[in-house]
Amino acid sequence: MGQVRVFNKGYDPFTGIGEMLHTTSVRHASGMIRRGVAEPVELAIVEDRIVPTVLALTRELSGAWVEGIGQRSIGFSYRAVHERDHWSCAYCGRSVSRTPACDALLATVDHVLPSSRGGESSWLNLVCACKECNNRKADRTPEEAGMALRFDPYDPSRAYRAAGGHMELIIVGTDRIAG
Ligand SMILES: [Zn+2]
Repeated sequence: MGQVRVFNKGYDPFTGIGEMLHTTSVRHASGMIRRGVAEPVELAIVEDRIVPTVLALTRELSGAWVEGIGQRSIGFSYRAVHERDHWSCAYCGRSVSRTPACDALLATVDHVLPSSRGGESSWLNLVCACKECNNRKADRTPEEAGMALRFDPYDPSRAYRAAGGHMELIIVGTDRIAG
């Protein structure tokens, strides 16, 4: 089905000024809206359904991502997990830092499936978390702890794919973590 144009945050539909990042399918676009990654800017009615035709990211794509455009995949590190998750806690959404004003907001990395239960240190099993949420979750899964993930972790090295001889940016991963 039709292609949806995806713009960086700040796109102005009235002037058309903005940074277009890539195009994606309606299905993928709907997933981005559902996850809060992007919001619809323009809609159309196709076969009696309202579908997005233009999206804008809800958070500005940072330099770290743009730099990654190319054949190079993004190296895995705890810091890179923080970058991927925009330095915000995957559970409470608060901004975290390595030098926070209060200890609760110290940037930590949480194993979604705890390492004590076989959870790997990988892109798909790690999220940025504040120290407070990380301590509260402890050795439990999000379900056991009653703490919902605000976004799905994904492997950003899969955020780029070859398209017509250049690298096309794909913002969201579709890999879901189990349990
Ligand atoms: Zn938190």
